[in-house]
Formats: sequence, structure tokens, C-alpha cells
Amino acid sequence: MTAQLLDGRALSSAMRKELDAEIAAIKAELGVTPKIAVVRAGEDPASVSYANAIQRTCELRKLAFEMHALPEEVGEAELLSRVVRLNEDPGVHGIMIQEPLPKGIRAEVITDALSPAKDIDGVHPANTGRLAQAEPVGRSAGVSDFFVPATPAGGLELLKRHGVALNGKLAVIVGRSRIVGKPMAMLLLRENATVILCHSRTADLPAICRQADILCAAVGRAKMITADWVKPGAVVVDFGVNFQNEVMVGDVDFEGVQEVASMITPVPGGTGPMTNVMLLKNLLEAARRQGQK
Ligand code: NDP
Repeated sequence: MTAQLLDGRALSSAMRKELDAEIAAIKAELGVTPKIAVVRAGEDPASVSYANAIQRTCELRKLAFEMHALPEEVGEAELLSRVVRLNEDPGVHGIMIQEPLPKGIRAEVITDALSPAKDIDGVHPANTGRLAQAEPVGRSAGVSDFFVPATPAGGLELLKRHGVALNGKLAVIVGRSRIVGKPMAMLLLRENATVILCHSRTADLPAICRQADILCAAVGRAKMITADWVKPGAVVVDFGVNFQNEVMVGDVDFEGVQEVASMITPVPGGTGPMTNVMLLKNLLEAARRQGQK
């Protein structure tokens, strides 16, 4: 069996067309150009590159963008006051704090200071809490005006738009970070999957992975998940971004696993391109909610 690709490049490109229509509608109906402010401190290469990618995307889509690039030695108080200023700026609709932050700055103090309404990467406790509280799909609508982190939201979108059945399926997620693994578990639980969330202390990880109908990897270890960890016919979502001899590879050994799985995300070209598009989707949602108040 050679697995069908869950192609994030193709889907994100189709979604960008949908977003362009929504951008035009927001400009026409509300008279505003949605603006994102990216705050970063220091020169971590991955963080700089992600911030630049967001800027390029905004320029291409004719969205407004502000980069707040602060020096490595910025203090917590100065960073906090920058966030508070952006919260209060009516021209800014979404704020993204790039991690890692410099040593000595407590990330949770900064994310707690974000306005939940502008927290388009879903890291404020009000947003993570709402996701944890969310009713399963098919039950009462509950509160829906919260933001979900862009990376797991993109993974879920790839599954849903490829028609992958989630209801009643066993989903195993490897990695429990607050920006990928944990929210992915909450999203799949809300879709009525039965979820097992694994981490570095999980005993007999390969045996647990082998049970999965849907296997998600968010670890940060190159090609850790091999074909013998995967149930034949499973759907595999790889969030990992690792470099081996300067080549980007996922947490999943793609070559081997594609022979066992029924569907799989490639790296690159799977979950990565979806992150950017889901962040923009959240920005547009934030701009609409703020414009309609
Ligand atoms: P973190 O480092 O924050 O979390 C890694 C998780 O993996 C932790 O829960 C850790 O367990 C677990 N883990 C580490 N080693 C093992 C092991 N040997 N067995 C089982 N579990 C293990 O990473 P992130 O969630 O931020 O990122 C994960 C991957 O996703 C990275 O490659 C990152 O680059 C990528 N990423 C991709 C994005 C995209 O757009 N596609 C966006 C963001 C990240 P424990 O909690 O016990 O320490």
C-alpha cells in the first residue's frame, strides 16, 4: 500500500483563495484592513524566519502587518508594556508572541497579558480553557468565540477536508506541548475521537501507537516513528520539523510509513503550510468580531 498524501500545500493554497474573499468582504463591510502585530525578542533563527514568513504572507494578501522586533536584552516589564499597548491599539486585530523568549522572561506572564480577543494563536488561558471546556461536536453549541493554536487547527483541517472519519476512532498523539500536542488532543476529543496523549514518560510507546486509527506526531525527533509503530491503514499526521544533514524531515519515517498507512502528511508540505493559513483565518475572525462590536 502507498498512502494517499494529506497535501498541505494544495489545501493551504485553496484556503488562501477562500481567505482572499473574506479579506475583501471585511474591507468592504467593516471598512478595516485586518492587522497582525508580531512580537519577537532576540534573534532565534526559527523565530525570525517564522515572523518573516508571516510578514510575507500578509504583504501578499494585502493585510496590514507590524513587526515588533525587540533586543535579546529586553526586560519582562518592557515586553509587557508593549503587549498592553498593542492590546489597546484599535488598529491591531491580532497579536502573535513568538517563542522562544529570551532567558529571564516568563512566557506565561507575557501570554497572560494578551487580550484574549486578539490572541490569534490561542495561547491565553481564556482560549486554552475554552477549548478544554468545548462541547463535543453534535452537542450544544456552547461558547465558540475562542481561538485555537494554528498548528493543531491546521492538522485537524487537513483531516476533515480529506474526509477522514474521526467519530469513535482511536487517536494517539505523541507530544503534549501546549501549542501542538495538547490542543490537538482537545480538538480530536471534541470531534468524538477516543484520545490517548503520549509523552516522554509513556511506557511502551510503539505498542500504543500501533493501536491508533489516527496517529499524530509532535515530538521534534527526526524519523522517530517507524513503519512497525503504525497499524496498517492508519492515518498519520506529522507535525515534526527537524533537520538531518540540512534536509527537513518529520518525526515520522515517511519512506517506510507511507507503505503501511492509508494517508500521511509529507514533511515538508503537510502540516507546515497549514499553520500560516490557519493563523490568518484566526486573524480575520478576530477582525470581524472586533469590527462588529
Ligand atoms: P516540545 O519540545 O514543546 O514538545 C515535545 C513533546 O514531545 C513533549 O511533550 C515531550 O514529552 C515529547 N517527547 C520528547 N521526546 C519524546 C520521546 N522520546 N518519546 C515520546 N515523547 C517524547 O515541541 P513542540 O510541540 O513545540 O513541537 C513538536 C514538533 O513540531 C517540533 O518538531 C516542532 O518543530 C514542530 N512544530 C511544527 C509546527 C508546524 O507548523 N508544523 C509548529 C510548531 C512546532 P515531555 O512533555 O514528557 O517532555
